[in-house]
Amino acid sequence: MRAGPSQEEIRRQNLGALLRFVHRHGAMSRAELTAKLGLNRSTIGALTAELTAAGLVAEAAPREAGRAGRAGRPSLVVSPRSDAVCAYALAIEVDRIRVARVGLGGVVADRREAAREPGQSGEEAVKQVSSFVAEMHAAAPAQVRYIGSGGAVGGRARAADGSIGLGPPAGWADEPLRAALLAAGLPGEAPVTTGAAADLAALAEHTRGAAAGYDNVIYLYGDAGISAGIIAGGRRVPGYLGIPGEVGHMVVHPGGRPCRCGSQGCWETEVGEQALLRGGGGGGGGGVTGQAAVRAVVDSAAQGDTSARTALRRVGDWLGFGVGNLVNIFNPEMVIFGETLRDIYLAAAAPVRSRLNSIGLAASRGHLRLRTPALGDDAVLIGAAELAFEELLADPLDQR
Ligand SMILES: [Zn+2]
Repeated sequence: MRAGPSQEEIRRQNLGALLRFVHRHGAMSRAELTAKLGLNRSTIGALTAELTAAGLVAEAAPREAGRAGRAGRPSLVVSPRSDAVCAYALAIEVDRIRVARVGLGGVVADRREAAREPGQSGEEAVKQVSSFVAEMHAAAPAQVRYIGSGGAVGGRARAADGSIGLGPPAGWADEPLRAALLAAGLPGEAPVTTGAAADLAALAEHTRGAAAGYDNVIYLYGDAGISAGIIAGGRRVPGYLGIPGEVGHMVVHPGGRPCRCGSQGCWETEVGEQALLRGGGGGGGGGVTGQAAVRAVVDSAAQGDTSARTALRRVGDWLGFGVGNLVNIFNPEMVIFGETLRDIYLAAAAPVRSRLNSIGLAASRGHLRLRTPALGDDAVLIGAAELAFEELLADPLDQR
């Protein structure tokens, strides 16, 4: 027989649970925490005192301390120390590089962004990240404690077409990014963890966005191709070695267009940015690509341009086709359309739904919600920060 957890283990678990709760839900009174965490009042008081002493939470009297007619003292409000504990979120995507300093509680305190030139190497991208971090770290208030960094890398397997030049998101980028952070003057002992952009956007939306409270979620991340972040049973499904599967290469149209992966009729050949631009008059050497190009087609369609409308309808139909397949496989409660797919979905929701209704199993469609990211473009950054906070939240007082 195994012995149960020790008092010390229970205390550490409870510290993590309390910190995670306010990190995720924001300021909350001791009374609410007592109810939500199922612990008694004196335990909540003791845990809060420890986290306060460690500089991770702050306690204050509630603003509306109803003096009139309320008996007893108002319950103190516990908040995460967003001002004092931070992580750096680093995102290297197809067409841009973003870095943010994110406080505990998911608050973006400072940020930098640069467009990414086509063909820019991974090394150059990492150098840009380093200079942004150095700038922000120098500008951060002296008392801010840095606990680690999370990196999001978009577009695995895109190196073949020269559009990215970065390898697998998990693993490949860890060492270069760690070196970049050291060069930027950050302490080397703090953890640096990376993941796929789609996966981290899913994590962010699940933690504090559109999918909060839903444990079966697919986040579709559209850039030059399509990838998916999957949450199943409340857990991320990152794939072997942290490398996610590529839903963009699900074959939906046998005999269709050749795909740069070597196959034919992959989902992203029918739904990707290029498919829309091809039909919508924006493609072929026009120069503008990415989100701006997708928006241009969506705008033309809104102004009545026939070819843009036809292209959107067609892409919406294929989008629904792939989503229908994913829904039949994973039975999610929510599918979120992110990045370029956000604009496409908003402009073509009717054909998406119509195709989804024709191929999705009725049993899976009843509870399915189609959404766009509540965190908008920040989902990837916030998700990278969540990755960085994980270790602290698991064991808040583990002093390395
Ligand atoms: Zn393919």
